[in-house]
Amino acid sequence: DASHTAILYLEDLNVSFDGFKAINNLTLYIDKGELRCIIGPNGAGKTTMMDIITGKTRPDSGQAWFGQTVDLLKLSEPEIANAGIGRKFQKPTVFESHSVAENLELAMHGNKSVWYSLRARLSGEQQALIDETLQTIGLTDHYHQAAGALSHGQKQWLEIGMLLVQKPYLLLVDEPVAGMTHQEMERTAELLTSLAGKHSVVVVEHDMDFVRSIAHQVTVLHQGSVLAEGTMDEVQNDQRVIEVYLGE
Ligand code: ADP
Repeated sequence: DASHTAILYLEDLNVSFDGFKAINNLTLYIDKGELRCIIGPNGAGKTTMMDIITGKTRPDSGQAWFGQTVDLLKLSEPEIANAGIGRKFQKPTVFESHSVAENLELAMHGNKSVWYSLRARLSGEQQALIDETLQTIGLTDHYHQAAGALSHGQKQWLEIGMLLVQKPYLLLVDEPVAGMTHQEMERTAELLTSLAGKHSVVVVEHDMDFVRSIAHQVTVLHQGSVLAEGTMDEVQNDQRVIEVYLGE
C-alpha cells in the first residue's frame, strides 16, 4: 500500500466554492524524498490543493495526512508550518533592505523581533546551517548584499533558502520559474533536483520544458481530480491529457 511510504497523502478530498466543485474526489500520494510536479490547465484545482495541504482552505470532506500520524485537517496554518511543511508562493517576498544572510537568519528565527533581540548571537550550528544553505542556493558570494539588489532569480532562490533554514520535510513550490531567464531556469532545475531525497518537493509549474527537466513523476490535475500520473513522456502521450490541453 503506497500510503505506508508516503510523506503526504490526500484521500477523497472535496471542496466546493458556492456550489462549484474546485476539488473533486482528489486522491494523491507523495513519497518521501520525491520530486513531484503538478500540472494542469487553469482552474484545475492546483492552488486549492496547496491551500488544503497548508491549512489555508478546509475541505468539505476527505483526508489529508502528513506522514503516518499528522492529521493536517486538525492543524492550523502555523501548526502545519511548524510540523515541517514549507510553502513558497510564486512572487518572492524577501526583506529587501536586509542582507541575504540576514534574510536567512530572520527566517530561521521566525520573526523580526526575535531576530533583533538575538542578532549576532547565532549558535555555531545555526551559522553552519546558514552557510550550508547559502551554498545550496548558490548565494555564498552575496552574503552581505541587500536582498533588494538581487536579480529576480536570485530572490527566488533566497526565498527557497528561507524555507530550508526552517528544516522542512516537505516543500511546496508554486511556479518557481515564472519570469526567469533560461539560465536561471537551469539553475533552478539543479537546485530543486538537489533538494529531493533530503526533502520531499512538490512543484506546481506551467512551463513544460522545465517540468520535463526536473520531474520524475508528474501528476495532471483536471476539474479537481487526478487525470493522469506518470513520467512526462507518459502523461504527454495520454490522449485525455492532450484533449484537456488542446481545449484550453
Ligand atoms: P489552478 O490553481 O489549477 O488554476 P484553482 O485551485 O486556483 O486552480 O481554482 C480551481 C477552481 O476553483 C477555479 O474554477 C477557481 O475559479 C475556483 N476557486 C478557487 N478559489 C476560489 C474561491 N476562494 N472562491 C470561489 N472560487 C474559487
